[in-house]
Amino acid sequence: MNPGALFELHRKLCVQPPMKNKIYLKTNSRIARLACIWLRSRAVALVWGRTIHLYGATADDLLSNPSWLAHEMVHVRQYEFRGVPRFLASYLWEWVKHGYYNNRYEREARDVNRQWDVGTIFDNYKFEIK
Ligand SMILES: [Zn+2]
Repeated sequence: MNPGALFELHRKLCVQPPMKNKIYLKTNSRIARLACIWLRSRAVALVWGRTIHLYGATADDLLSNPSWLAHEMVHVRQYEFRGVPRFLASYLWEWVKHGYYNNRYEREARDVNRQWDVGTIFDNYKFEIK
């Protein structure tokens, strides 16, 4: 392998982060605003696939709040694990059966975020503000 190709391979493997590790932060989101009204909350973060929608809070508010960020990242993992349509259907079903606070995905997010080493979030994911 010539040095140029080796450099290219190295660049691909080591420098460019894989696309799947990118997380988007959407501030002033309409969908999060609706959730704010629905939940009668001043600030809401709502995960949809690989995007964390925010309303009433800035990206900095979220990124500087380790337990909040870890909670939302658990939801990102839940989407990754099941895929967007299956997760959404399952989440809605859980919500109908158990409500917001007691549905299994919210309970899991609360349990896991107590154990999550927040440092690894920044190692494994790259945050991009939309
Ligand atoms: Zn949650």
